[in-house]
Amino acid sequence: MGASVGDSFHYLQQGADYVPYELPRQSRFPPYEIPLTEAEEERASRYLAEEFIVSMREHGFIVPERPSDILPYCRQLHTMYNYEGLRRSGLNLIFDNFMEAISLTHSKAGQKWDDAIANLGIRLCDLEHQEGFSLIRNVRDLDRLAASKGEIGIVASMETATPIENELDRIDMLYGFGIRCIGITYNDANLLGSGLSEASDGGLTAFGRKAVRRMNRLGIVADISHCGPRTSLDVVYESEHPVMITHTGAKKLWDSPRMASDELLKACAAKGGVIGVCAAPNTTLTGSGTDHSIEDVMAHFRYIADLVGIDHVGIGSDTFYGDHLALQDAFDARLMLSESHGSVPPHAATHVRGAENPNEATSNIVRWLTKHGYSEPDIRKVLSGNAVRVLRRVL
Ligand SMILES: [Zn+2]
Repeated sequence: MGASVGDSFHYLQQGADYVPYELPRQSRFPPYEIPLTEAEEERASRYLAEEFIVSMREHGFIVPERPSDILPYCRQLHTMYNYEGLRRSGLNLIFDNFMEAISLTHSKAGQKWDDAIANLGIRLCDLEHQEGFSLIRNVRDLDRLAASKGEIGIVASMETATPIENELDRIDMLYGFGIRCIGITYNDANLLGSGLSEASDGGLTAFGRKAVRRMNRLGIVADISHCGPRTSLDVVYESEHPVMITHTGAKKLWDSPRMASDELLKACAAKGGVIGVCAAPNTTLTGSGTDHSIEDVMAHFRYIADLVGIDHVGIGSDTFYGDHLALQDAFDARLMLSESHGSVPPHAATHVRGAENPNEATSNIVRWLTKHGYSEPDIRKVLSGNAVRVLRRVL
């Protein structure tokens, strides 16, 4: 049960304080490792052990073993977080949204303020009770993390600003609670702008413009990963600071609403921003789209790096521990997930070969970069330099 996988809520009494759900004991698919020569293997292992590695979207969240448990598990708020797994991942800093968009304690539809705050509070409480994990709130924290040996920093993020409704001050409150990166919309529209699953995109609203300016003033990164094309561009131009597309891919390689156009990728880079490459199932596909592997993910990486330059691309794998597809199914109707994939059947690929969880994804990204002859300074930019540059500018 919970205790064998992670040590979330070790300070509570299982059964009395929260309901334990059955968690996956092992990966559902055979592990896959990009093959390397001995010399490459040595370099890749060194990067993984010694380099500071950032993922702009990652999850410690563990999906319960039985798909029918997903909704009640999320509803009770005490969801398990794989601290132990992350400790072994090679990652040093992750942007984690703590799954606030799917917290359903008070609402059936999700993305509500009360739910998001309840979810955030329980997760931050759990985080405070763990060794070696800390929230990154400012540049001082970043410096301290970089100097630490093996600590893991978390940039607390919101996948979407929807829970703030029309209350600008809620952005300040979120800042106060430690949030440092906010998605402007999720797949559907909100009071700030249009999401990428909407049929038409009216761009950033007047309130959305105020919200972006407030985020600038406070020191919160604006993320446009799930915004519609016009809303995304509006955010890039409205923001005084560089923005992030924390988890996406290239529309040129896979034409779905979830992917970013060349125009948007270039605009984000021109503003000094950074683009994280997503490895969630059925997002960064190529070819026929029936199979999804780390090679497809990295094809998107290469395309974006070639288009906008190595200074503007990084990691944003967006992987979980457990069945990502079952999780998507459970929330599909609420979050317009199928629509976000465009014409691709939502189950075209069952998983991403070589990127099944944060550990496998991170390891194979490092292996792929090593194998494909990227220089040490360029690898360093991709693994952390680019994301940290934007964080230093914004925080
Ligand atoms: Zn997302």
